[in-house]
Amino acid sequence: MSRCLAELTKNKAFKFHPRWKRVDLTHMMFADDLLLFSRADIPSVSALFAAFTQFSRASGLEANLHKSEVYLAGVNDQMGDQLVSLLGIAKGTFPIRYLGVPLTTRKLSYNECKPLIEKTVTRIKGWSARFLSYAGRLQLIKSVLFGVQLYWCQIFVMPKKIMKEIQRLCRSFLWTCNKVGSKKAPVAWENLCLPKTCGGWNLKDLITWNKAAVLKHCWAFSMKQDRLWVKWMHTYYIQQKDFWTMPVPNGLTWSMRKIWYQRELLLQVGDGSQFVVASKFKIHKAYKHLHRSGVQVPWKRLVCNSKASPKSTFVVWLAVQNRLATKDRLIKWNVSVVSTCELCQQYDEDLNHLFFSCKYSSEVWQLVLNDMGIQRSGLQWHEEVDLAVKKSRSSRKTDATYAMAFIETVYGIWLQRNSQIFSSKVDTPKVVANRILFCVACRQ
Ligand SMILES: [Zn+2]
Repeated sequence: MSRCLAELTKNKAFKFHPRWKRVDLTHMMFADDLLLFSRADIPSVSALFAAFTQFSRASGLEANLHKSEVYLAGVNDQMGDQLVSLLGIAKGTFPIRYLGVPLTTRKLSYNECKPLIEKTVTRIKGWSARFLSYAGRLQLIKSVLFGVQLYWCQIFVMPKKIMKEIQRLCRSFLWTCNKVGSKKAPVAWENLCLPKTCGGWNLKDLITWNKAAVLKHCWAFSMKQDRLWVKWMHTYYIQQKDFWTMPVPNGLTWSMRKIWYQRELLLQVGDGSQFVVASKFKIHKAYKHLHRSGVQVPWKRLVCNSKASPKSTFVVWLAVQNRLATKDRLIKWNVSVVSTCELCQQYDEDLNHLFFSCKYSSEVWQLVLNDMGIQRSGLQWHEEVDLAVKKSRSSRKTDATYAMAFIETVYGIWLQRNSQIFSSKVDTPKVVANRILFCVACRQ
């Protein structure tokens, strides 16, 4: 194929596409798609088509002309019509959509990115998503974000508005499971994007990820990497000038300008070599540099090292930050609830009472402790957390089991509290403790 088309360039009748001449380009191939370029005049187009037909005959590889399209620019309608009828291929309209994405010189509009938004919505609104726990939803969000990050953010300069919309959808799915009505997010999205050691879940902040990916393009540019687009930009825009100091050229596409503007950022971090491993620019390294890192939390090991089930760990993660929707907090948010603890019906419910001052909870926790050979009753919440955190730092098996039992107990009690509220059912402390111990034994 390439040989047939190389022959073509010697044909005097053939003229290159005006923007491809200096890089001698007649065609591009991707998977089983082929793009052919030439100047929009009858001799060039005929020569190009003849070269392709010759290849097609020799190789037996035929193009499906019904699935092909001709794109024209810079010619009048009359010439356009002549070329279209010469080829017998349908005329396509700009922007060309390739793999569902428009190839455009402008900023991607909200409408053009709609498929991405719709895809996100379909995934998080699927029937099975409704039955997921917090941890399950978090996992689904991670996979949605990963897809966006891996494909869209890596290739395109994405408008911030779209990235924010996707994050908003994910956020509302995590906290409300798409139920109507706004609920205050217990933990801000920015904090979920922090590393786990800083109290987050390491979700990727799409805006920063996209910035890091654009930085990669900019770096490829500055390094004159052997890529077609880089070569093309150098040939047409940079020529002999210095990329670092030259003014941003006129007539660049929106994305190109955005890439160019990253020069300053790249200069600030040296030349970006700190993000390069084995001559490859690593986006995640640039991301780490660009994203705010946060402060390490004292309870990081309890959550990071947790061998307990993800859904229990998530609830404990909320509890250690006092973000669990206990009744004192609900009342602060003006939710009308009876303030009394559901499990003992004696005191007001807050985090300290629920874990483990409450008679019911303290009994559950004591039964669990006794089973592990620890003879004591429950302490104050913060003392219990400190103790569990201490154990979670140790590498001893009994300490790991202790930390796991602590997490499963908090979750077990939380479930009973919810069950009492929503279905007026509560199991005996003995039953709950046995369930917790069984859970722990299974995960060891
Ligand atoms: Zn109580």
